[in-house]
Amino acid sequence: MICIPITSRTIKEALRVIERSCHLADLIELRMDLIGRVNLAKLISAIRDESDSIKIIVTCRKKEEAAPAGVAMCAKGAVKNTGEKMALLKEAIELRADFIDIELAEGKKAINELKSLCAKKGGKTKIIVSYHNLKETPTLKRLKEIFHQCTETKPAIVKIVTTAKNVEDNLITLNLISYARKQSQKIISLCMGDKGGVSRAVAPLIGNFLSFATLDRAGQSAPGQFTVHEMNQFQEWFNGKHRASLVPNLSLRKTSPKNYVLLGNPVEQSLSPLMHNAALKKIGIAEHYVAFCVQDISGAMEGLRGMNIRGASVTIPFKVAVMEYLDYIDEDALEIGAVNTIVNDNGRLTGYNTDWLGLILTLKKAMTVKNKTFVIIGAGGTARAAAYGIIKEGGFPIIVNRTLEKGKILSEKLNCPYYPLSEIGRIKADCLINTTPVGMYPHVDKSPVKEEALAGYKYVMDVIYNPLKTKLLNDADKKRCHIFSGVDMIVNQGAEQLRLWTGVEPPTTLMKKVILKRLTKSE
Ligand code: NAP
Repeated sequence: MICIPITSRTIKEALRVIERSCHLADLIELRMDLIGRVNLAKLISAIRDESDSIKIIVTCRKKEEAAPAGVAMCAKGAVKNTGEKMALLKEAIELRADFIDIELAEGKKAINELKSLCAKKGGKTKIIVSYHNLKETPTLKRLKEIFHQCTETKPAIVKIVTTAKNVEDNLITLNLISYARKQSQKIISLCMGDKGGVSRAVAPLIGNFLSFATLDRAGQSAPGQFTVHEMNQFQEWFNGKHRASLVPNLSLRKTSPKNYVLLGNPVEQSLSPLMHNAALKKIGIAEHYVAFCVQDISGAMEGLRGMNIRGASVTIPFKVAVMEYLDYIDEDALEIGAVNTIVNDNGRLTGYNTDWLGLILTLKKAMTVKNKTFVIIGAGGTARAAAYGIIKEGGFPIIVNRTLEKGKILSEKLNCPYYPLSEIGRIKADCLINTTPVGMYPHVDKSPVKEEALAGYKYVMDVIYNPLKTKLLNDADKKRCHIFSGVDMIVNQGAEQLRLWTGVEPPTTLMKKVILKRLTKSE
């Protein structure tokens, strides 16, 4: 994602740059220390008028914290102390900016104060905790320590920016991105300065949360920043747009007949091969989808690259473990902390998560998610995907889990309530979603909740698809709830996988038909 910093020294100029930047960027950073004490509300509403989807970061550095390029431009009204900075960041939260940036050096008390205000205002604004070193790049060991000091404050994003004294310093900040990614922590890590260009160009390919780029040289907020045009050109090169013509054999590498695979353990009961093979045939792709029972996921990933297998589904127990073997992880998957889909672009592996979309599309067929409350039973990978999708759609999840610790960790991450499973009868919500395996074949007489606890829910969903109608759904039916089985979810998540692998519109009706046929046969 490209972020254009707005560094203009007058509001008139800032508004002009905003107008030019909004269609080129994914995020706009308002550098209030450089723009000066102008009307923040006016700037935010100017961005919102240009685009609903663009994200806004509000940053306000003290003079001594600004990078050399910024120091030179510091506006007359730049903040002088932490008090002024805090007031401005609080205003940004009130104005529902998407992100505010606060330095680690401001201390836990200041960061927690801002976090509490974010939570009080509904959690729309997320916190970036940042560290800048304007002189050098510390060792990787030291940067990891700083990274952990940042993560202790539980920010949405950690930002660590150093100054490159030599080209090797770039490798340190790039290594830090891989380190953060293994822990599912979003990060912005790069080197400033003339020698930091490598990190700026390569970081987006390995999962940096965003890349700073300017409209033109005059807009630089830190030394070494590329322009948007240059940044886009780098991405095109790295993504192979030009490479294919220079290296003719690259796209002609021998492909295996087993072009799509399922990686999991166990996989025998999976209906994915049936569903995907029917779909591939229908859309005229003469390749197959094969299930592999995997012992060693790192070996399986080497196989994926070596055999140039185009796509893989990933299932239990590898959805988290697989992440460290990928070259790039899509934004949604990184946020959820699990990958269920891999796309192989000539050896470059990208991880996605389609579970959340599968679940949300299922719900949205029958109900509005926005402003509804959802009890999610479970705190595993599917619960995380469900909660992520619900929040993204403007709904409110409530986590209910058997094990207190796991439930609490998830609820704290999502900033939503947690209840132990034993207290489910106390909760009222619009919809209940079971994401545990309780009730799955062959334990079909089990349900995660008693029938009485279902009274009051308008909607009940079970992610289990075998059996088609679990005991939970039978009980919910008796209570006249609208019920959803896991069949639509598996079809929707599989359809999204196919779309990612082939770019072709998936035959969802057929995919559902083959699954229903198999399941009704086995009932
Ligand atoms: P997971 O990460 O292992 O999490 C399972 C969760 O279920 C945990 O929070 C666990 O609670 C809870 N749980 C397990 N046994 C329980 C029991 N006896 N009583 C109460 N809670 C129990 O698994 P997952 O990847 O989220 O998968 C969960 C289910 O979703 C599986 O059945 C899977 O097949 C299904 N699924 C369906 C689709 C679809 O497309 N329809 C897609 C993905 C997954 P603790 O924290 O207490 O251990």
